[in-house]
Amino acid sequence: MAGLMAGKRGLIMGVANDRSLAWGIAKALNAQGAELAFSYQGEALEKRVRPLAEEVDSDFLLECDVSDMAKLDDAFARLAARWPTIDFLVHAIGFSDKNELRGKYVDTTLDNFLMTMNISAYSFVACAQRAAPLMPNGGSLLTLSYYGAEKVVPHYNVMGVAKAALETSVKYLAMDLGPDNIRVNAISAGPIKTLAASGIGDFRYILKWNELNSPLRRNVTIDEVGGAGLYLASDLSSGVTGEIHHVDAGYNVIGMKAEDAPDI
Ligand code: NAD
Repeated sequence: MAGLMAGKRGLIMGVANDRSLAWGIAKALNAQGAELAFSYQGEALEKRVRPLAEEVDSDFLLECDVSDMAKLDDAFARLAARWPTIDFLVHAIGFSDKNELRGKYVDTTLDNFLMTMNISAYSFVACAQRAAPLMPNGGSLLTLSYYGAEKVVPHYNVMGVAKAALETSVKYLAMDLGPDNIRVNAISAGPIKTLAASGIGDFRYILKWNELNSPLRRNVTIDEVGGAGLYLASDLSSGVTGEIHHVDAGYNVIGMKAEDAPDI
């Protein structure tokens, strides 16, 4: 298929269903001719991911829990056995105990702090370690972050701290892998109703607040995240690395509540 991504192939990690941010990116990449492999967490998700993969002409699925280094090794070995080289990797994975995505950050437990950091931040480093050798001619690594890394968002708590670590990892990885022409970037997406987001306390309030106060006075869609993902995975962004690119209807630039926003 012709297109911006013709002849390119890569791994999409983190599709859970058709509302996943990773799915928005997968659709945009496929529409421009990319060949896609998908990793999913656990057998239960396979039955959701397989039909979606088929929609974008892929039969290449890999089971992978990113908190388990042996499973990551195995998934990348299976990826490399069929595709010795790849051009991009999309990491759209985050997790925390939902009991700690409400209430106060000060109450975070050590166990959940470590688990959240492992799955939501370290796993991107672990994926970069395993993907880089498959990118001898360069490539693009992309992850997903949120504004709660930069500023306090109610209930985002330990996930905000993990996203801050993730965003800083993007910058260090960009420096380490830049000499190999491997670019490393993140999309900081505005709030979107997904499975992961439903674990965040009072997420509806966050959605409404962003809708009323962002410069565009609306929320963003997974297809808009997909458009930015396509840009960052493709050669259109060949000079861009270490970047945290906001796709949030402009919310990150505001300093105060919009004058025209009604109370919620
Ligand atoms: P989602 O629930 O569709 O996707 C989250 C994915 O993480 C799921 O596919 C899940 O299986 C996977 N995952 C969790 N733990 C895992 C593990 N141990 N091993 C492998 N996979 C694991 O939700 P989403 O909102 O599309 O989330 C994707 C990314 O986007 C996350 O990093 C999230 O923090 C980020 N993000 C989401 C929003 C939003 O508002 N939805 C905003 C900004 C950033």
